[in-house]
Amino acid sequence: MATGQPTTAAAQPVAVAPGDIAITDVTVVPMSHDGELAHQTVVVRGDRIVAVAPSAGFALPAGVTAIDGRGKWLMPGLADMHVHIWSENDLAMFLAAGVTTIRNLFGSDLHLTWRSQIAKGERLGPTIVTAGPLIDGDPPIWPGSTVLVDPAAADKIVADQKAAGYDFLKPYSRLSKPAYEALAAAGKRHGMPLEGHVPTAVGLAGVLAAQQRSIEHLDGYLFALVPDGVALPPPGPTQARTRAALGHLDPARLPGVVAQTVAAGTWNCPTLIVLDRFAALDDVAALRRRVAWLDKLPAWIVARWDPKQDFRLRSYTADDFTAIRAANAQRAKILAALAAANAPLLVGTDTGNPFVVPGAALHDEIELMVAAGVHRARVLRAATAGAAQFLGAPRESGVIEPGARADLVLVSTDPLAGPLPLVPDGVVVRGKWLPRADLEARLADIARHSADPAPKGF
Ligand SMILES: [Zn+2]
Repeated sequence: MATGQPTTAAAQPVAVAPGDIAITDVTVVPMSHDGELAHQTVVVRGDRIVAVAPSAGFALPAGVTAIDGRGKWLMPGLADMHVHIWSENDLAMFLAAGVTTIRNLFGSDLHLTWRSQIAKGERLGPTIVTAGPLIDGDPPIWPGSTVLVDPAAADKIVADQKAAGYDFLKPYSRLSKPAYEALAAAGKRHGMPLEGHVPTAVGLAGVLAAQQRSIEHLDGYLFALVPDGVALPPPGPTQARTRAALGHLDPARLPGVVAQTVAAGTWNCPTLIVLDRFAALDDVAALRRRVAWLDKLPAWIVARWDPKQDFRLRSYTADDFTAIRAANAQRAKILAALAAANAPLLVGTDTGNPFVVPGAALHDEIELMVAAGVHRARVLRAATAGAAQFLGAPRESGVIEPGARADLVLVSTDPLAGPLPLVPDGVVVRGKWLPRADLEARLADIARHSADPAPKGF
């Protein structure tokens, strides 16, 4: 190394202007690359990050909102890539847990309106991307779904959902193979990706062959480990199909299934938490004791989270819950194999389902993925930069670098070393600073209304 030359460029002084937010002397976890950067100042102007540089290079004029980041870490806001939201309170709960982007998997006009208001800064909430109504076979599993039976009808359905403004299509479990294939072709024509379930009649291989953009819940993977020629019972009101599959699993098939996933470029959003909660619904009292933030949810909703009231669970026996738990253990192994092969992963929860609580559940999901054997840094990257990459705008969010949207989470513990605090020290969403006291006040306000009666029609 030549003597007399600085080994690193001197920090460029950055002009910080009144009205900016400056988080000073903080350890940045940029997520655009590995590792952490100590003693940084991050400057936010409007809804953008405008500077990230060593703190020594900054002078802060009057009129700057300075946030002391000493001893703290700053990471990009989290993305929950599988949610179902129907209440404004959900938006506040996501923010209070550091979630600044959500992918909504059953869309309606309401979500289009919220998406637009949030993008324009007229409403406070996480950035929304949304599917249209589910696209399912006949009869559909959920009311409100769009039914697709005749393959010739696929094009119009896709064109209509695109014209309505939805971001992607959500294929669902009862689509026939011809209908699914027509939907996938129409999606390609219209530039509308398929992100959703693996229809039973199509199977994992068919969905990967169609290069579906994402698969939710590791749908189809367990059944893909069953040797060809083994007849399984059809899906029904119990876990008989899962139980039969578990009795025939061939682990030697897993590497091939993983390789097919990587080759297809399909992302997986495992949503382990919703499956974990389903497996625990045989003891609702225990769930009520251990699940965080239930007090923030309307009591009438929590009361419905009883297996006897849920059409999917009403006929389950103890054996069915045992089967779900066994299937979940297999899914953890499948996830670990996908991660080991660098298959692209998302982090999502399926909030709206029993005991999957907006915001809080993403923290549960991160820990379940870590417990399954995915490196913590990898999980956090999937929940930030990975989500942005999936959304086709890798520099737009999910990273801390100049030009990215200012969606940030400030915490007092090292994110790469252990679980994140449920409520951060502060959140920046589209450039707006929400200190912890503000987040807590919003949560308290929501909790105060939890005993309100259900709105008409629910
Ligand atoms: Zn879902």
